Amino acid sequence: MTSPSARTPHQAPEAGATSSFAFPLQPFRRWFDSNVPAHDEETAERIDWLRAMPFVGMHVGCLSIFLTGVSPTAAWTAVALYVLRMFAITAFYHRYFAHRAFRTSRAVQFAFALVGASGAQRGPLWWAAHHRNHHRHADTALDPHSPGLRGFLWSHMGWFLTSRAFHTDLQRIPDFAGYPELRWLDRYDVVAPIVLATALYLVGTLIAHVTPSLHTDGAQMLVWGFFVSTSALFHATVTINSLAHRFGKRRFATRDDSRNNAFLAVLTFGEGWHNNHHFFPGSACQGFRWWELDLTWFGLRALALCGLVHDLKPVPAWVLTKGRG
Ligand SMILES: [Zn+2]
Ligand SMILES: [Zn+2]
Repeated sequence: MTSPSARTPHQAPEAGATSSFAFPLQPFRRWFDSNVPAHDEETAERIDWLRAMPFVGMHVGCLSIFLTGVSPTAAWTAVALYVLRMFAITAFYHRYFAHRAFRTSRAVQFAFALVGASGAQRGPLWWAAHHRNHHRHADTALDPHSPGLRGFLWSHMGWFLTSRAFHTDLQRIPDFAGYPELRWLDRYDVVAPIVLATALYLVGTLIAHVTPSLHTDGAQMLVWGFFVSTSALFHATVTINSLAHRFGKRRFATRDDSRNNAFLAVLTFGEGWHNNHHFFPGSACQGFRWWELDLTWFGLRALALCGLVHDLKPVPAWVLTKGRG
């Protein structure tokens, strides 16, 4: 039997496990600290409903629109936060952290990582590490979210809620794992959405007192600015995992089942040109033809003009002349 003094920190008993009060705190700690061990191999592929409660709660919270009503202020706040956070996800979580398609400063890197994290799609290291796995194994048994192998619902959000998926594989992202501020944000990824939700409630409450003619309040701003906007942001983002591997055109005969889909490209600011992206993932631009709208690319060029990002990797000429259509 191991004596307490012989235990390493990793062998320490879990909170609550050895006390007379055996309430299982572990699952609740995982809401706030993603470093708390998340699964054993037996349950790794199952949806962890307790851990997923904040995600479920966010969707249920959207129903509160029937209680709060809507105002132009709340609706435009929801739209603005969708736009800002979609850009942070596509430009930084995806093209920067996962694919290193441009360069930036440490401060800008963290600022957009923070905005991205407020989208409640977990931390930047988690997101990019999983996405690198997707590219490495796209539409094979090792792909975390292939709709061809496991169906629409699994690829859209089922995989995201499994015990296995809560873990960040830092070995998959060694180039960014060395930044302590990114590791902190990844570990406590829940902080950014909580701060945003709280700020929306406080701003709404302030507006109700200072400018009542705008007909909004804290609850309405919270529901539209956070619950509705963040849920829409989530589902739009993950259509690239589910729908963009099923519906659309294949310009390039890649080994996966990725598609180019104009509707999804509008919804996700350019990510819908997913077959282009799987063929050449290293480019900061995903629209390979003049008519392939890529709003993220425009946003990145604007940031480059301001000197906030640089070395945007272009689509090479040989890629532009390849493929059908
Ligand atoms: Zn893909
Ligand atoms: Zn990618």
